[in-house]
Amino acid sequence: MAFPSGPATVQWRRSARARRITLRIDARHGQVVVTLPMRAAKSAGVALLRQNADWVSTHLAALPDVAPFADGGSVTIDGAAVPIRHVPGGRGGAWLADGTLHVSGDAEFLARRVADCLRDEARRRFSAQALAKAAGERLVVRRVTVKDTRTRWGSCSADGALMFCWRLLMAPPYVQDYVVGHEVAHLRHMNHAPAFWALCDALSPHRVAATRWLREEGARLLRTG
Ligand SMILES: [Zn+2]
Repeated sequence: MAFPSGPATVQWRRSARARRITLRIDARHGQVVVTLPMRAAKSAGVALLRQNADWVSTHLAALPDVAPFADGGSVTIDGAAVPIRHVPGGRGGAWLADGTLHVSGDAEFLARRVADCLRDEARRRFSAQALAKAAGERLVVRRVTVKDTRTRWGSCSADGALMFCWRLLMAPPYVQDYVVGHEVAHLRHMNHAPAFWALCDALSPHRVAATRWLREEGARLLRTG
């Protein structure tokens, strides 16, 4: 579909839960996503896209360039650049040593190994942080998982399972601290009422700065790797 800044790919989705037609930007893929309720006409989605063509163009044009993990490049961990060095040979794996991320195995799998390494570290880190914050409030964490999510940085299910986007490992530590605190606070309050925010702020003092950082820089996390 043509937009003021050029053509853009549109992803069409049908959702049984959607109450109205919505537009959002998929930063990872650089596409606009149109979600339609089951009975909505696709033509209504097209009309909404036309009405919001400037908004779509502006947001797609503002996305940072895609930056794949590559030998000689770097990966951001805790907000700081860590060089990536390919070490041919070995059985395949990635490890941090001397401030450098070493990656062995075939070059074609390097990006995958870097992502797997970050994902494992994110799982360890966010699990430990969530358990520590929960213990202080006598809350129970059933499970912590990490995923490559597109639309949310974390979530908390009614049965006490927490999920975090592993890409947060690339964000500064205060941002990670806030997202973990936010989801742990949901273990007690499954809403965003004032009592929730009071607990959230008690669990992490970084809400304002972290929220701003995610709004301004979050797309970069999705465009890396
Ligand atoms: Zn929330």
